[in-house]
Amino acid sequence: MTAELERVGNASSLHASGRRARRVVEESRERVAESLGVRPSDVVFTSGGTEADNLAIKGLFWSGRDADDSRTALAVSAAEHHAVLDPTQWLIDHEGAAVCFLPVDSTGRLDLDGLRECISEHASQLGLVSIMWANNEVGAISPIAEIADIVRSRGVLLHSDAVQAVGWVDVDASLVDALTVSGHKVGGPLGVGALVVGRDLSPTPLLHGGGQERDIRSGTLDVPAVAGFAAALEAAVSTRLERSRAIAALRDNLIARVLDAVPDAVLNGPAVGGPTSGGPTLGRADLNGSGDSALRLPGNAHFTFPGCEGDALLMLLDAAGVECSTGSACQAGVPQPSHVLLAMGADDASARGSLRFSLGHTSTARDVDELIAALTPSVDRARRAGLTTVPAGA
Ligand code: PLP
Repeated sequence: MTAELERVGNASSLHASGRRARRVVEESRERVAESLGVRPSDVVFTSGGTEADNLAIKGLFWSGRDADDSRTALAVSAAEHHAVLDPTQWLIDHEGAAVCFLPVDSTGRLDLDGLRECISEHASQLGLVSIMWANNEVGAISPIAEIADIVRSRGVLLHSDAVQAVGWVDVDASLVDALTVSGHKVGGPLGVGALVVGRDLSPTPLLHGGGQERDIRSGTLDVPAVAGFAAALEAAVSTRLERSRAIAALRDNLIARVLDAVPDAVLNGPAVGGPTSGGPTLGRADLNGSGDSALRLPGNAHFTFPGCEGDALLMLLDAAGVECSTGSACQAGVPQPSHVLLAMGADDASARGSLRFSLGHTSTARDVDELIAALTPSVDRARRAGLTTVPAGA
């Protein structure tokens, strides 16, 4: 990537610099395809996960409806990222689309019976079903093979947002018709990603212009970013098993120590492999290994700290050098509870008192020690501030 940043050349130009840039793009496309087990021609580079999700949701809805005017509906899980939920809402508001918001269980995993019901009632109207491979807030991994069986056996297209899953779990792209990947979630640059979509499908473009990327996504490609994305994806996929195991073990240690330090903290999402103590989870699933068959992303730990405002706790931990996140969006200065936790059945207060700690390939045991050292004083202080205000100076 740094080598490419020193060079110029538009990959669509015919002169020597352009041809050189094109070669880098096509070699990167091959590396991305190889890492995901698809054909190079299936890879459509985008500006990231958000654009790829929008292209899948709107583009496949539009092209499906153009081909068959009875396809006026789509189905998405209620726990999707906003990059899927918001274009879906846009189709409802502006295109009159009908939508099944599919329920998830108390661990954040898709309720397969809800999906079966939607498919059996609406298969002939559905242009698309979109279910994320793994949830970005609580780390729940979807049973994509079963989902694919239910959806595709009825002739309905299946898209999956695999932004959080690629590089951590085994993502078999052949199970779906379209797949979203993002560069910065696999250790690559920001602002690049891809929609993997077979040549038999032509989502209606969101962007019109120079006809790049099979005329599905016009715009001059960012060659250094594409090269960095391909290199990072290849590294993430090829080291996945060992990295996932190591990070899951670190995460299990983090969970046990958080529950020890704050005994009434609640672990949200699917259960993890290691022994956990503390209060009941918001839907504890059967204990499951942290390897390939795990129900939860290896680097994900998500808690509710009763009596705390998540955003206040986040600021206090940030001041202590620990960076974490809430799934909530702040609207007009008022923290909103996460839609994912609400879909899992959490009440407003628990949803607002929640935090996610994410571990990545650079995380170490020392990082966990530092979190544990900062946690109790921060929780105490956030509790004193209560559920409604962000403490001054935080
Ligand atoms: N989908 C999921 C599940 C995500 O977690 C994210 C980003 O956090 C996105 C989509 C958006 O991807 P990007 O940041 O590349 O636009």
